[in-house]
Amino acid sequence: MRLLLVEDDRMIGESLQRALRLEGYAVDWVRDAAAADGTLASERFDLVLLDLGLPAGAGSGAAARPADGLAVLRALRARHDATPVIVLTARDARGDRVAGLDAGADDYLVKPFELDELNARIRAVLRRHAGRAEPLLLAGGVTLDPASRRVTRDGAAVTLSAREFAVLEALLAKPGAVLSRSQLEDRLYGWGEEIESNAVSVYIHQLRRKLGADFIRNVRGVGYFIDAAS
Ligand code: CA
Repeated sequence: MRLLLVEDDRMIGESLQRALRLEGYAVDWVRDAAAADGTLASERFDLVLLDLGLPAGAGSGAAARPADGLAVLRALRARHDATPVIVLTARDARGDRVAGLDAGADDYLVKPFELDELNARIRAVLRRHAGRAEPLLLAGGVTLDPASRRVTRDGAAVTLSAREFAVLEALLAKPGAVLSRSQLEDRLYGWGEEIESNAVSVYIHQLRRKLGADFIRNVRGVGYFIDAAS
């Protein structure tokens, strides 16, 4: 899963990026409204964490460039982009929370917040966005729990590395849908992280070894999928 963190406070930004990476997310971080708007207009993320109180940023002098978090959100929705957004607001700013939700945010969190609450809200928003009420991902005797990060095969625990887990989670989120190598790489790596050229093949190989050779199918030259009916 790839997240965009929009936060101008360096300390909060650094600690959130570090903590979310430990949760297995690929996390990119921008610090002003112009950078957020430009990034969201050109790249795809699974979820956005959006601080509302942001500097406008370079290049925002042009008319119609968003000048704060709320404007970034309105611009995103005006492009008919349904990427889930959780807004981060100050404690004394009830009006911001209402405005954020009305501008198209999926949820909000009041600073300062606990990391476990943020993680639970991220999971809940991703689940709703995918149209799932059920918190567990299941297919073919394999169960993945995004909250505990536990995976079982026919009831027995399976130990996966963080990146094997991320590949499995991406494939299980939409059984039957084929994900290309580059779509999987996007979910594994943030900006500036070096992508080993055959990394996805290695993770798929490991997952097949642990979960069964036929569990992950491939369409030659296209990508990988998990059989929805398995
Ligand atoms: Ca701020």
